[in-house]
Parts: sequence; C-alpha cells; structure tokens
Amino acid sequence: MSAHLLLVEDEVRLARNLVLNLEAEGYTVTHAATCAEARTAIGPDIDLVVLDLTLPDGDGIELAEQLRDAGTLVPICMLTARSGSEDVVAGLAAGADDYVGKPFDLDVLLGRIAALLRRASYPARIGGDELAFGHNMVNLSSGQCTTAKGERTLTALELRLLRYFVKQADQPVSRDDLLREVWDIAEPDRVRTRTIDTFLGRLRKYFEDDPGKPRHFRTEHGTGYRFLPKG
Ligand code: CA
Repeated sequence: MSAHLLLVEDEVRLARNLVLNLEAEGYTVTHAATCAEARTAIGPDIDLVVLDLTLPDGDGIELAEQLRDAGTLVPICMLTARSGSEDVVAGLAAGADDYVGKPFDLDVLLGRIAALLRRASYPARIGGDELAFGHNMVNLSSGQCTTAKGERTLTALELRLLRYFVKQADQPVSRDDLLREVWDIAEPDRVRTRTIDTFLGRLRKYFEDDPGKPRHFRTEHGTGYRFLPKG
C-alpha cells in the first residue's frame, strides 16, 4: 500500500507541481492550502505531512505544535523559505522531524520523505524475541519497548497478554480465550471481562498512534479482539 502524504502548501503553482511529482512517485497525496484545511485533513490514514511554514491563516510551526499536542505522531517534514537557523530550530522543537529549505531540489525533498517514511514504519516482523509493528519495537523476553511515545517496560501481565496476541496474530481471540490463557481463569465473569478491557486500553495507549482508532489491537464486535501486526 502506498504512503498517504498530506501536503500543506499555499502557493498554488508549487503545490500543484509537488502533488504531480509526489503522485508520480507512487504516493497518495491530499493537499491542504491552509492550517484549517490541514487540521481537517489530518487523521490516522496520513503517513507523513509536508508542511510549509508560512500559511495564510497561521504558522506551520504552531500547526506542528498543535498536532503534537493532540498526540499525532505522524512524521512532519517542514518546507521553509525562512533562512534563519532559529526557524529551523523552532520547527524541530515544535515536533517536525526534518526540514528542506526553499527553493529546494525535488530529489532532495523526495529523498527526505522516503527516509522519514522508512524510519517511521518498521515492517511488521515476528521472529525470535524482537517484535516490530507499527512504530514499536518490543523485546518479548524482557518486555522492554521502544514506541513512538518513548521507552517503557511492560508489566508481567501486559507482556503475557501481548505474547498471547502475537501467538494468535491476525486471528480473532475471544475474551474467554484471554481469561483462560492469559489470566488462568477457567470461569469468566463480568468483572473480569472489564479487566481485559482495561488491559487492552493500556496496550492501545502504549502502542497505537491513535488509541481511539486502534490499527493493531482491534475490537471484534461480539467476540473479542484481534491483533494485526501490520495494522
Ligand atoms: Ca507559504
């Protein structure tokens, strides 16, 4: 599946040109000409944002900051005609991942975009003790994780739950299965079902870009859950 880019750029000719070139590279491109349009367009389907800094209704640096404050972890590549290094520093501090100065060489921009996408999406890989999925790396022995939100170590029960999901990757698992296999409880009841929901909420908070719209830890209505390493 090709990456979906959000291009935030108000200069009409430049934007049109970039959309054509990015699409020629195989990307799907959504164009926003203002901060307001960008805020509407941003969502879990966007893989990378190319962000101009001077926009008619605001500042790209502020927009990057707002996206990060809202918990959006999507890679952001700034386009800046501002020459001062303090703008670059401010942009990176606001949460941008890289920047390209205007006027830019198209190949340089395409290279930066490809590098950011490579860094952002480790291919899902299950083998040995290391699990990579989405923006996460987990050691399934120690429970140590590197996620887009930082480092953490899973509790024993969280790790046991994750390992069970990994074993059953891409398959639906029922709440009863989880209680039996993870919690060692043969006879489920309502209270314990809520416990599972609490634990799922924690895994989503740690590992999902948008815990409200999980890509990896899906709810299967009426049955239970499904872990999709590839999202
Ligand atoms: Ca501009």
